Amino acid sequence: MNMKEYIDEAEAALLHTYNRYQIVWDKGDGMYLYDIEGKKYLDFVAGIAVFALGYNNKAYNDALKAQIDKVIHTSNYYYNIPAIEAAKKLKKISGMDRIFFTNSGAEAVEGALKAARKYAFLRDGHTDHEIIAMNHSFHGRTFGALSVTGNPHYREAFEPMIGNVKFADFNDFESVRAQVTDKTCAIIFETIQGEGGIYPATQDFIKQVRALCDERDILLILDEIQCGMGRTGTMYAWQRYGVKPDIMTNAKAIGCGVPVGAFMMTEHVAQHSLTSGDHGTTYGGNPLACAAISKVIDLFEEQDILKNVNETGAYLYEKLDALAAKYDGIKAHRGVGLMQGLECEEAVSGVINKAVEKGLLLINAGTNIIRFIPPLIVSKADVDNMIAIVDACFAELNEG
Ligand SMILES: *Cc1c(COP(=O)(O)O)cnc(C)c1O
Repeated sequence: MNMKEYIDEAEAALLHTYNRYQIVWDKGDGMYLYDIEGKKYLDFVAGIAVFALGYNNKAYNDALKAQIDKVIHTSNYYYNIPAIEAAKKLKKISGMDRIFFTNSGAEAVEGALKAARKYAFLRDGHTDHEIIAMNHSFHGRTFGALSVTGNPHYREAFEPMIGNVKFADFNDFESVRAQVTDKTCAIIFETIQGEGGIYPATQDFIKQVRALCDERDILLILDEIQCGMGRTGTMYAWQRYGVKPDIMTNAKAIGCGVPVGAFMMTEHVAQHSLTSGDHGTTYGGNPLACAAISKVIDLFEEQDILKNVNETGAYLYEKLDALAAKYDGIKAHRGVGLMQGLECEEAVSGVINKAVEKGLLLINAGTNIIRFIPPLIVSKADVDNMIAIVDACFAELNEG
């Protein structure tokens, strides 16, 4: 079958919840993806900040194959070595104390919210606790995660959400404080807002929220699903702020393509929240998923991924700054490490579509922002190649 025939079959069988690019993938290698007609694409999307190690990493593939030949799944009624290894390594890189493995980011958020409610319940026995979340946030599509997602467009048709969620403005401490009551059990935000447009938390904001949480015994939940796992040059984005969350969520790059997530907490929260029978999952933490996490963390160290993020991230920053200075249509440039965005005057779908034609994958964040979230193995030469294409796209659109 050719590409068009596959796409027609997909559209006949799959629920129409996505507007997909007209590409059917065959395989990937390093920074490149290849479609079934052999066209090669430089990838600055990484499967939405997932494939940190690049495609077809041999050591990673071999680790998965070895685990497949041993055992793929056994359930949480028993222990398995990959989960033990993965949990130990996650504790080490995060400094958190206890891990619960999930299958996705949204589920990690669900678990974090449940832990926060249970913590407050054990403290005062009430069942009307409130959560404060941020406008323009994104935490996932399940009901709990959607309820703390500050984008009414995603929520509207599915109301009512879970109750007692209040929204404040990100990076505006007074707006957060104004929402706090005696019932507040948690404040949740992304350390760097991803889908909302690549907005890093300011140092003041995060410190002030942390202090407020300490003062009122409110749990700080940081969503690191997109900005975590090395993307900003530290294993977790919060690590550069000198604060620590009580609960954090992780997913996307943690398994580098195997669907997995985790929520992690301090010992104090663990001792005063979820306990036997409170939460569970059939697949979460299965041997195959955890073999992936375990190998990903090893390879981050062996390949010195953070060093590359810091070096190539700084280079990307310079180059995008230069591009922003060159075109009036680019309003702002933001981001850290390999999570950056260009905010444009107009919708960016035109630029992105042109880039795709020229063999470069990019994605938007909102309608006006181009998001740059490449695999973390990206080189300066890859950045140069990407910039040349984006430059050409802007130039052509300016002429047109
Ligand atoms: C992607 C994302 C999620 C949801 O993760 P899924 O695996 O798609 O459920 C939650 N929070 C943030 C910040 C994300 O970027």
